[in-house]
Amino acid sequence: MTTPADLLSRAGIQNTAAHRAVVSILQKTPAISGADILVTLASDRADATGSPSTGELQRVLAELSAAGVVGRVSAEGDGDTHYHLMPASGQARLVCRRCGTRVQASMDTVHAHLPDLHGTGFSAVFETDVIWWGLCERCVQQNAQAQPQ
Ligand SMILES: [Zn+2]
Repeated sequence: MTTPADLLSRAGIQNTAAHRAVVSILQKTPAISGADILVTLASDRADATGSPSTGELQRVLAELSAAGVVGRVSAEGDGDTHYHLMPASGQARLVCRRCGTRVQASMDTVHAHLPDLHGTGFSAVFETDVIWWGLCERCVQQNAQAQPQ
């Protein structure tokens, strides 16, 4: 797996302990709220990673978002903003919003779902970073069993 330091240097972002700690947490989870990142950072304090304040965390997340390293998604249920790492360029990923199952999609799947560019003023797509958020088959079956007919 790419180290947080490698990811930050490739994206041209500052490589501070706070940046590395946030990226490291995001690598372990499909999506996580800012509040949960702070809780995780505080509990990781024993690793001497340092624990940023809410303001510092917001600055780090804003920097990572602006560089395209981190994306945001509304969580199922509470609708809170959750942060996630974007897939590497040219990759696509399916993520179950409930259990966090992640599946890498093939480039054939990506190409089959490229947008129809007619009328957009664009004629080519050179890079694709796609995440489809949804429910995995296991969670859909659990949903069906939980709801009486
Ligand atoms: Zn699932």
